[in-house]
Amino acid sequence: MVTPFSYTASPAQVIFGSGSLSRLAEAITGQGGKRALVLSTRHQKTEAERIAAALGPLSVGLFADATMHTPVNVTERAMEAYNAACADCVVAIGGGSTIGLGKAIAYRNDAPQIVVATTYAGSEVTPILGQTENGQKTTVRGPGILPEVVIYDPELTLGLPVAMSVSSGLNATAHAIEGLYARDRNPISSMMAVEGLRALKQALPQIVRTPGEIEARSEALYGSWLCGTVLGAVGMALHHKLCHTLGGSFDLPHAETHAVILPHSAAYNSVAAADALKPAADLFGGSLGAGLYDFAASIGAPMALRDLGMKESDLDRAAEIAALNPYWNPRPIERDAIRVLLQSAWEGTRPL
Ligand code: NAD
Repeated sequence: MVTPFSYTASPAQVIFGSGSLSRLAEAITGQGGKRALVLSTRHQKTEAERIAAALGPLSVGLFADATMHTPVNVTERAMEAYNAACADCVVAIGGGSTIGLGKAIAYRNDAPQIVVATTYAGSEVTPILGQTENGQKTTVRGPGILPEVVIYDPELTLGLPVAMSVSSGLNATAHAIEGLYARDRNPISSMMAVEGLRALKQALPQIVRTPGEIEARSEALYGSWLCGTVLGAVGMALHHKLCHTLGGSFDLPHAETHAVILPHSAAYNSVAAADALKPAADLFGGSLGAGLYDFAASIGAPMALRDLGMKESDLDRAAEIAALNPYWNPRPIERDAIRVLLQSAWEGTRPL
């Protein structure tokens, strides 16, 4: 029998395919935009300059200071640039950091957002904005935060370094794994999760072997779109809360932390959510935690929190913070069990 559910489709337009960057101008004008402020990180500034130049008069400026975790003071500077240029929309070119800046601007002035996504993190298809101020990361959700148009052009991901591709792909994988057992999951979100997992499992090893192969890049971007859509559609649980704690309170890198934690969070929930996780266990093999661990190891992912700079002496505090505000998870959040999970993740041991 089909379990009762509630389903809302995302209104965002997605333009996917090799060469789809050429449709950027059409995407801007389709949103009524005449004066776009282009956003990027410093690292992707040259690429963003090239894209802005190709837009001609549709681009009225480039703000190339997007920063991880969307600091509010950077957003304020970007807002000044937006107002000074009399812009009427934003074009974010990059991964979650740049997309976060575009969302933060739209959150304040409702600017239409056009995103050219270049990592596999999935932020471009979620109505979620995380921003930091005075060392505190807070998350807001709302329809105005969801970008209106997303362009996925695999050509732009050919230069994403292999290590970043692997971590970012596992970040996307984590959205789908948690989406499978989400309390508010529905048949569409679960279908997207399974297809997203299949695509990433196929693509990531190929990217490791031949990073310049467009087919694998295309498959990975397709998978990341699906997994990101799942993240935007249903609630996340233990895995994302843990990564939020480790990133927010211990300054660990975002995608790499997801990559290390995933096998352990999946193992923690694998018995309580066995039915929901069965398609993922079938895909990765054996017990899901071990299957994901072996997959991550086979593609050269970071495997241990200690390699990301986490101190063993901080594990007690991390377990305390993670268990502090109770939230829904298929298996109850128990402080001592979380402490054991964190120890395994810190050492990088293979879950059973
Ligand atoms: P990122 O955007 O921080 O990018 C990492 C680095 O890689 C940057 O220097 C960037 O310029 C560079 N880069 C990106 N694409 C590249 C490419 N194709 N080639 C070469 N270099 C490239 O990384 P991310 O993992 O995409 O984003 C992480 C941030 O996104 C975090 O702050 C995280 O909290 C946020 N995030 C938010 C959501 C959400 O739904 N709100 C979802 C996922 C991630």
